Amino acid sequence: MLKFPVLFPHFAGLRVERLLVLDGVVHIEAHQRAATAHCPTCGRRSRRVHSRYTRQITDEPLGGRPVVIHLRVRRFFCRARACPKQTFAEQAPALADRYARRSTPLSGTLQQIGVALGGRPGARLSAALHRPVSRMTLLRLIRALPLPAPATPRVLGVDDWAYRKGHRYGTILVDLEQHRVVEVLDDRQAETVAQWLQEQPGVEIISRDRARAYAEAARTGAPQAVQVVDRWHLLKNLVEALERCLLRHGKALKVAAGQAGTDDGPLPSYSDAARVPWQQRAEVARQQKHAGKVEQYEQIHALQAAGFTKLDIADLVGVSRPTVDRYLNLEAPPERRRPHRTGLRVLEAFEPYLLQRWTQGCRNRSRLVREIRAQGYQHGASTVVRFFQRLERDQPGLSVPPAPPKTNVPSARHVACLLVQRPDDLASEEREYLTRLGEHEPALATAYGLSQAFAGMVRERTGQRLTDWLADVAASGIGELVGFARGVRDDQAPVEAALTLEWSNGQTEGQVNKLKLLKRSMYGRASFEFLWRRCLLTA
Ligand SMILES: [Zn+2]
Repeated sequence: MLKFPVLFPHFAGLRVERLLVLDGVVHIEAHQRAATAHCPTCGRRSRRVHSRYTRQITDEPLGGRPVVIHLRVRRFFCRARACPKQTFAEQAPALADRYARRSTPLSGTLQQIGVALGGRPGARLSAALHRPVSRMTLLRLIRALPLPAPATPRVLGVDDWAYRKGHRYGTILVDLEQHRVVEVLDDRQAETVAQWLQEQPGVEIISRDRARAYAEAARTGAPQAVQVVDRWHLLKNLVEALERCLLRHGKALKVAAGQAGTDDGPLPSYSDAARVPWQQRAEVARQQKHAGKVEQYEQIHALQAAGFTKLDIADLVGVSRPTVDRYLNLEAPPERRRPHRTGLRVLEAFEPYLLQRWTQGCRNRSRLVREIRAQGYQHGASTVVRFFQRLERDQPGLSVPPAPPKTNVPSARHVACLLVQRPDDLASEEREYLTRLGEHEPALATAYGLSQAFAGMVRERTGQRLTDWLADVAASGIGELVGFARGVRDDQAPVEAALTLEWSNGQTEGQVNKLKLLKRSMYGRASFEFLWRRCLLTA
């Protein structure tokens, strides 16, 4: 028993009287070894005991079993005349804070779980680890943690993030050299950010997106700092301009896809149109299931990029650890598994015909059976009857909607992305598509050349070419690109810095993703304060 403090330092100064296991719970009875105690108010030592009581403190589990410490506490008389206290209770500072019902080590573990996972998932994990705790208690423990002292970053990344999409936005400030969040602000107003910058003098470089508010904040809050526009946002704005341009040339997109003249794309095939309702429904269900898998794949990769461990990821996404491993090893989202058929159902070949007759209004089942027998159906009539029973139950006033036409014309957004990518990174059919597009519409060939030149400046940091590029765009007469160039000219020094310096907001984006994930793990009900605390504590 005397070895206790060696294994469990928080038992320092205590004597363990008894240790017993009752109904799967470990009970430890302990009391202070010292005969005297010091008054917390005046510091004077006292040995006169007034009374005794027992404090119950939950400790870290032992061998998977919950532990309850029954701490025998003495209340002493304080005999100092001037002391306002007449009595005081002895404390066990290494074991637990005053009034605390959890030991210090247990509180520490719960705080870590709370910071990593948030209230509700944290409470679930704690329960699974034999440390049952309510969501509210976890949040209270997070609130009790001291926040790291902010240090002024030399290179600051500024970006906004949607606290509630379309409703409320905040601002995230990242130290791009230390790779950590320095502050999360409650809005994205220029004054708020400018005020923060004034309170933290010393920022030398500010990497920001192209929103006016942050440009103004940097100008007024840190006029000495070099502003750098985020390269990712630059490319994004270019892609948006290209998309608008391509939408204007919608016909060229179709011609290049080899679908000139047919306005509606190819006609739906017979088998698609003749799908019976429950088969269509099963198909929709399969598609939804696959979409879910793609989303999981993207979440898992985003979480890994944000620096979460595989275990955290498994818990946040709600999948098993092996699934996380499997998805991380995939280079692209999982492909859709086609339903495999082991053999044709006996009626399958005749279903389109039956459906057609049914839609025409024929309800005479025995006649329909005769008709398909004439076509070679060799099985019983009951199969046909069951087919119509299902059909009637599913769609009483049956009319099968035609399947949407399949189209091979890529979207304007997709083509816009192709235009800024490295040609080497494209598949050969994508390169051929772009060639056909340019042949059909010379303006798009010009737009392609300009996009590649701009993307080249972004990739190779050759900002000295920017002025020439702006002149080329003006000469091209392509309205959407001229508009993009006008925006660049308004912001030219920061854009040129972005195309020359190494700093970029890519990292800030990563931190924004992490923030979003923290928010999602709190089911979107997080108060701003908790989001902010967890963001700073996990940075
Ligand atoms: Zn006293």
